[in-house]
Amino acid sequence: MDEQQTPRPVRPGAENVVCSRCGKAAEGIPPTWICSVENHTRHYFCEGCARANLRAIESRLDSAWW
Ligand SMILES: [Zn+2]
Repeated sequence: MDEQQTPRPVRPGAENVVCSRCGKAAEGIPPTWICSVENHTRHYFCEGCARANLRAIESRLDSAWW
């Protein structure tokens, strides 16, 4: 593997996050985004994906009941 260390300009205080589901990028962490920690790794979901995610989780719970 060819690993290159490219210094990227990072603005102080601005943490860039990328949606783990759709790949949407955002500057900083929007209040509408949700963060979930899985396997010690932080995953961020944008507003739309968070909603879809919750629905998926809910439906999964629902199906578990039947
Ligand atoms: Zn998304």
